[in-house]
Amino acid sequence: MSTLTPAEKTFFGHPRALSTLFFVEMWERFSYYGMRALLVLYLVQPLTDPNPGLALDDGVAKAIYGTYSGLVYLTPLAGGWIADRLIGLRRAVLWGGIVIAGGHFLMAVPSEATFWLGLVAIALGTGLLKPNISGMVGKLYTEGDDKRDAGFSLFYMGINLGSFAAPLVCGWLGQQYDWHLGFGAAGVGMTLGLVQYAIGRRRLHGVGDQPDLPATGRERRSLGVVAAIVGVGLAALVGLLSLLGQAPVTAVTSAVAILILVVPVWYFWRILRSTRDSADPTARRRVTAFIWLFLGAAVFWMVFEQSGSTLSLFAEQVTNLAVTSGFSIPASWTQSIEPLFIIVFAPVFSAIWLRWGDRAPRTSVKFAAALVIVGISFLILIVPMSAYQDDGTRATVWWLVAVYLLQTWGELLLSPNGLSATTRLAPTGSLGQFLALWFLATSVGTTIGGQIASATADDPVLSFALCGGLAVAFGVVMTLAMRRINALMGDVH
Ligand code: GLN
Repeated sequence: MSTLTPAEKTFFGHPRALSTLFFVEMWERFSYYGMRALLVLYLVQPLTDPNPGLALDDGVAKAIYGTYSGLVYLTPLAGGWIADRLIGLRRAVLWGGIVIAGGHFLMAVPSEATFWLGLVAIALGTGLLKPNISGMVGKLYTEGDDKRDAGFSLFYMGINLGSFAAPLVCGWLGQQYDWHLGFGAAGVGMTLGLVQYAIGRRRLHGVGDQPDLPATGRERRSLGVVAAIVGVGLAALVGLLSLLGQAPVTAVTSAVAILILVVPVWYFWRILRSTRDSADPTARRRVTAFIWLFLGAAVFWMVFEQSGSTLSLFAEQVTNLAVTSGFSIPASWTQSIEPLFIIVFAPVFSAIWLRWGDRAPRTSVKFAAALVIVGISFLILIVPMSAYQDDGTRATVWWLVAVYLLQTWGELLLSPNGLSATTRLAPTGSLGQFLALWFLATSVGTTIGGQIASATADDPVLSFALCGGLAVAFGVVMTLAMRRINALMGDVH
């Protein structure tokens, strides 16, 4: 049973509210990936160019990108809490969208200060919007509704439609004309999403209007205390790193990276401590199983999320993008390849799992396969990268197409399955927290990926070998530990 009233029109057989959420998330992702397609290219563009960037080193740019993306996927931890305990999902999505649009428009102003402020605003706004809009989709269906998974698949299509179109539009405007025009176009996209949200409000029928479990006065105060500790801690770290000789941008990047790596350790320690004392052995086993999935996902996203940094620079600096003698595609356009593949292959994978039914591989198998595949996607780049270093031969764009094809298959093996396993492994009452932890795996992965890519920026072959090798190695470890992981997961397939 869904929340559908009989007289209401449907959206591909789903509640009309899904159409509102579909388009809002489509535009939000449009703004996110539109800006992301430009980010690293802008950071490294020389000042002497007619369309100047910030002229940073590749390594610094990769670390900034990794930490920025890490922050984007860390903030859902707070965004989920704010929605569940303070303002409700619907308002959290609204405010998130407003802050995101504001961030993009700040970046449209040609000044360095507004550029950095804009990045921070986008990270904060995404924390409010991204987890909570998925939460709203979940709330459109009752517990046992068999349309739920199909609803999420449709929603994932919206994500990828936005991700596909954005680099084409924002990338073209930003690279061919003016970076800030591209950033502004991303802001226009998010604004269109907000308009859609306002128009579609009635269709939501009050979904997410109230916080599920309003916070007590004490909890509200403790939020303030945590925010103050994090703020003071970060400022102290930045100060310390600056004293140790790091440039301001690097000091901030490193301090945030340290925060991102400390948070999950602290979180899991707390959760393990509380389940150790619990009388329920299944809950304990499931948390341990989830830690395996968390680690696998972190290593996977470590490679995968470098598409906006390492692969973007590979497209710009090493790939032959000439279509005819007079026309080359902008490097940012290559960012559209992966979402396009997702749109093509997502239905294929769904059909395969459906056909296999109970014989479909277990989560552990899919994770191990995804890790090996994503690892190979980086290892194959050693070939064109070495050729470029040897004699300057530019790589054909088919290398990137092959990389993104492999990464698409990896994503489809790991991401939907990981999300659904997370919802089933979460102890009762901790669903929101575990979903935020699922995003935290991306945060940790992309931060570590940024640091590795930065440290090996002068030796791209080593960079591909190291990141790709790590992913394959962890895939092998998961294969060796498969029996144990399966036992820990129990009846969660
Ligand atoms: N491409 C998906 C999205 O943008 C998943 C990204 C992720 O979890 N790292 O929502």
